[in-house]
Amino acid sequence: MLIVLFTSQKEGIGLIDVISILLLCFGLSFFILFLYSLNKQRNRLAVPFAFLCLSIAIYITGYAFELQADNTEELYFFLKVEYFGAPLMSGFWLLFTYKTRHRRPAPIQRIMLMMVFPILTLFLGVTNEVHHLIYTSMDMISYKGHLLSSLEKGLWYYLNILYAYSVEIYGMTIFFKDWRKQGYHRRTQSFWMLFGSIWPILVNFIYISGNAPLNLDLTPFGLCISGIFFYIAIFRYGFLDFQEIMKEVVFMEISEGILVLDNKNRLVDYNLACVEIFSWLDLCQIGTDISLFPEGKRILEQKSPDFELKLINNRKSKYYVFRKTTLTEGCHALGSVYFIQDISDQKEMIRALHDIESHDSLTEVYNRRRLLEEMEKELQRLKRCGGCLSILLMDIDHFKLVNEQYGHQAGDEVLRILAGACSDKVRKTDILGRYGGEEFLIILSEATEDNAYFIAENIRKFTESLVFLANGETIKITVSIGIKTAHSSDISLNTEGLMQSAGKALNHAKNNGRNRTSQSSR
Ligand code: GH3
Ligand code: MG
Ligand code: MG
Repeated sequence: MLIVLFTSQKEGIGLIDVISILLLCFGLSFFILFLYSLNKQRNRLAVPFAFLCLSIAIYITGYAFELQADNTEELYFFLKVEYFGAPLMSGFWLLFTYKTRHRRPAPIQRIMLMMVFPILTLFLGVTNEVHHLIYTSMDMISYKGHLLSSLEKGLWYYLNILYAYSVEIYGMTIFFKDWRKQGYHRRTQSFWMLFGSIWPILVNFIYISGNAPLNLDLTPFGLCISGIFFYIAIFRYGFLDFQEIMKEVVFMEISEGILVLDNKNRLVDYNLACVEIFSWLDLCQIGTDISLFPEGKRILEQKSPDFELKLINNRKSKYYVFRKTTLTEGCHALGSVYFIQDISDQKEMIRALHDIESHDSLTEVYNRRRLLEEMEKELQRLKRCGGCLSILLMDIDHFKLVNEQYGHQAGDEVLRILAGACSDKVRKTDILGRYGGEEFLIILSEATEDNAYFIAENIRKFTESLVFLANGETIKITVSIGIKTAHSSDISLNTEGLMQSAGKALNHAKNNGRNRTSQSSR
């Protein structure tokens, strides 16, 4: 380039030469920035930013050479070179700012979609002589021994400008929002990136409106100014630094949800895990008072700094434990951070353990322990609310014979099937369990003597009609049932007394020939 500059026929070094050298220096700086950013690949923003710098470097360098062109062929050649930078610059800017906003890699289809227009513009740029969609005519003007292009713009040129302005404004909005975010740790960097991104659009506007000196396209100069501020953001404020990446990655990727609020309970920041917890979370909600959302309101209502909440997530109930830390500076409260942990699995495990503890492993109905607990609860309810309660103690007749005749395994099968059949016969509010051996207990809340007798007879007759198929054998059994009905007026109501009475009634049924129901007198 320098050879071109100083071996041309122009006399001495004029303004255009100085501009070209300056542009070349900036082109080189952007190329250095490209290499530097490429080396910072651990930062998710580094790669699109690196390619943004490379496209700017190509564009600016191409422009510097264009200003030094000695003939039309050279000039057109460098104009084409610029097309390998200018349109792609907008595409990479869009990718870069998209990543800044979404904090996660863009899906490949979306990347391709973002790059379709810039690549098409690049293609149209290098084939302009065929269709004249970008420049309808290309003329030269001579200025102090320099050839300068004078271009009549076509439809696609303006479409590209529209695209470039849109993505530029989109990116600026993102950096503006980040800069305005209270307490956001990348505020300063966002400010410099925002300040840097204003210039190309500003100077391009001067050019488009026809106010540029010598009708020079000022966009490359705007980009040079941007470069200065990008350097400040990167080298002074560590925009691509590891520490920053680390903070960001830890904050974003940690499996615990982190929700940051200011002292007026407005949303300041949140991480990816939080998005899974609260469906309403969106960057647009930054600055919104979270009490506007039902879940936010519930969080704020909690008095203790450690609390548990059940939230509906993807139509599933999930349990979370919240730990609140207050953010202070001196004696001023700045806000609060909530650390949120999903404890649904632990809850499910505790529930499963509880189930094992309270269920009979063979028949899968409640075991004796749980039955006695439930009976105690029912008795308390009876004492409080009045009314009555019945229990049925059911025992299989001559079960020992079943074991002896068909084997213990067949006996087990009979117990299992009978438990399942009886569960279907009782109401949802009734409680059925295996009291022990071949004895079952059914607690019928609010069942009078008559109700209980009716249900017991129903079960007894139903059992008598059943044919059990076990170990390839057909087995028939009968049951005897003892009933005890308790009323709230009974002074000494307790589980032991109830069981004794039901046991006596059962003995009575056994002694009177089995396969019958007997009721304990009051
Ligand atoms: P009764 O009509 O007087 O109740 O006669 P019974 O043979 O049913 O009474 P008994 O109490 O003498 O015998 C109960 C039998 O139940 C004894 C035991 O082998 C059997 N049994 C208890 N638990 C189980 C079990 O889990 N599986 C099997 N297969 N048998 C069991
Ligand atoms: Mg028995
Ligand atoms: Mg028995």
